[in-house]
Amino acid sequence: MAYKIDAEKCIACGACVSACPVECIKMGEAGKAEIDSTMCISCGSCQATCPVDAPAEE
Ligand code: SF4
Ligand code: SF4
Repeated sequence: MAYKIDAEKCIACGACVSACPVECIKMGEAGKAEIDSTMCISCGSCQATCPVDAPAEE
């Protein structure tokens, strides 16, 4: 299981990038946050930090 970011919701604020303890979130080419699902430990920190609730568990 891993978290995935809903690009439709993401406002590209960057808050989740620094909130992730394993640094698996990067801002993608479209300017939206993207999670490397192979590294995600499903801690939920990104969802708790996101102002628009864009990350969710797959
Ligand atoms: Fe990072 Fe945790 Fe979000 Fe996975 S759930 S992307 S480990 S902050
Ligand atoms: Fe996008 Fe939410 Fe991450 Fe901000 S915290 S970059 S809105 S997913």
